[in-house]
Amino acid sequence: MLNLDFHPSGRHFLQIPGPSPVPDRILRAMSYPTIDHRGPEFGALGRKVLADIKKVFKTEHPVIIYPASGTGAWEAALSNTLSPGDAVLMYETGQFATLWKKMAEALGLKPEFIGLPGLDGWRRGVQADMIEARLRADTAHAIKAVCVVHNETSTGVTSDIAAVRRAIDAVRHPALLMVDTISGLASADYRHDEWGVDVTVSGSQKGLMLPPGISFNALSPKAIEASQHAKLPCAFWGWAEIIEANKTGYWPYTPNTNLLYGLSEALDMILGEGLENVFARHRRLAEATRRAVSAWGLQIQCADPAVYSPVLTGVIMPEGVDADAVRKIVYERFDMSLGQALGKIRGTMFRIGHLGDCNDLTLMATLAGCEMGLRLAGVAVAASGVVAAMDYLTSTARTASLRAAA
Ligand code: PLP
Repeated sequence: MLNLDFHPSGRHFLQIPGPSPVPDRILRAMSYPTIDHRGPEFGALGRKVLADIKKVFKTEHPVIIYPASGTGAWEAALSNTLSPGDAVLMYETGQFATLWKKMAEALGLKPEFIGLPGLDGWRRGVQADMIEARLRADTAHAIKAVCVVHNETSTGVTSDIAAVRRAIDAVRHPALLMVDTISGLASADYRHDEWGVDVTVSGSQKGLMLPPGISFNALSPKAIEASQHAKLPCAFWGWAEIIEANKTGYWPYTPNTNLLYGLSEALDMILGEGLENVFARHRRLAEATRRAVSAWGLQIQCADPAVYSPVLTGVIMPEGVDADAVRKIVYERFDMSLGQALGKIRGTMFRIGHLGDCNDLTLMATLAGCEMGLRLAGVAVAASGVVAAMDYLTSTARTASLRAAA
């Protein structure tokens, strides 16, 4: 049971791959008084966040902001663009790809789930050649959309979205390309327009450093066109009314004002640091984490170094060790939450989140917590991962002061 009187010293380490820790600056912004969502000040806030969020998706086209978790934005993407019985090609990269497919079935679509056999698909990114081969065989163009996950949060594997676009174009297939980057946005490089994505789905509680409760659909003109003929029932999620109201910075319903204050602050922080700097920071912390895992003598869930996630790292336990028992020790003894392995690989590994508001020392403490937890759980680590990560972070530490203007 939740014990609200319990207050351990220091901060809880929330090192799951989202929700990620919310910086104080964002929490403070969210505590401003709630204002009239039809008043003039709100319109200015709405116009600002709607303009700035496009820079993070790298798009010139509308981005819809929903007061919902990522799951709602998944449903919005499908129900705005597709009709009952439509065939959809979905690719199995892990648990989140699996859940999106389950949702497609529940909505009355006909998803075809492809991927590498066995658990191999949960250790590698999307194989674009498999998508190309399947679309080539679909000469009647029955498949209306291709759905892939950019950063599979359940495994720590990314996918090459530009390669999926090339696969679709290579066979001149008209299917829409829909991408879930719920845990990739603002942490891993992402280019909605350049990669020719029709609908990108994302959420607030990962790289954007916000609490859960906001999610997104970034659109393409082709997706908007498809939405004008789609027949799946779509009311609350319908893009047309929202796009119309957004033109002046408002929503057709009551938006979550205080989360939008937080979004405005998060966008100032991310765009102020510079998106490319944010991505480089994530890549460096991810590399330090992988060096720690290698020093421990453990395997990383992602088996293809070309697609390692900059957001999280999955650490596979030796045969016979229950990863959830290790997580429990780390939580109870060191007040740190690590991500559980989900679905088919439950109990086999744990996930270290190194996303969002994370710096060198946050990561060092996180890795120390993992190493101590592994030892207490009786896992014989080959060498100190903490030292390996520290060596890497020291040798790549920036030469300028963190406080110097970027
Ligand atoms: N897709 C991915 C890749 C995710 O990581 C998550 C949540 O972690 C979801 C979808 C579901 O989003 P939510 O839990 O915000 O509804």
